[in-house]
Amino acid sequence: GPTLFSAALQGAFAEHQSRLQNLRLKRQIVTVLVKSPEDLEKCDGLIIPGGESTTIALVARRSGLIDPLKEFIQRKPVWGTCAGAILLSRSATGTKKDGQELLGGVSVDIARNGWGTQVESFEAPLKVEGLTDPAVPYPGIFIRAPVVLGLVPEASIQVIARLAPNLLPEPIEDADDPRTIVALREGHHLLTTFHPELTRDARFHEYFARKCVFPSVERST
Ligand code: GLN
Repeated sequence: GPTLFSAALQGAFAEHQSRLQNLRLKRQIVTVLVKSPEDLEKCDGLIIPGGESTTIALVARRSGLIDPLKEFIQRKPVWGTCAGAILLSRSATGTKKDGQELLGGVSVDIARNGWGTQVESFEAPLKVEGLTDPAVPYPGIFIRAPVVLGLVPEASIQVIARLAPNLLPEPIEDADDPRTIVALREGHHLLTTFHPELTRDARFHEYFARKCVFPSVERST
């Protein structure tokens, strides 16, 4: 099949696209800005960007994309960043009273704007399992980020990055507290509560392409 990729409804999709275009992979990635079910059909993998999760869901609804997206998530790799991570979660607190549509697919419970308004945004170096040059910290950019409240115990989730206790916006004693989790994988799905598209460091995009979307083609040599 074609080696197409990527997503756009609202939010930071252009930034994701340029990160993907600069990757050096065995297969050239073609990026598609997804605005319709037909666009989605062309994709081998999808990124749901950061932005405003309520708006993204509304635009997806208006574009007839909710059901196609849910169906896509059943079959193919999806990466949600920040607002995208909220949409992929099983449940989200902190949504408006009339609610917000979620797509689901990843077995986590999340809180929108979970660090509160006093910490609108912050930056923290992250140690990430499985990135190229793992000793080099990855610059995590958090903007009104969601906070992981819990993982479904029976789900097979791999936590790949946590915030170090001294970098947390609020003190948390227990190092295993789910709120320290900022990146995780469940099967071929990837969830990050920060914005990898807002830094020049493209290692997270490389990770998604190599390990989640094209693992058989891109096995490291
Ligand atoms: N707070 C936003 C939301 O709830 C997410 C913020 C972001 O994507 N930077 O959707």
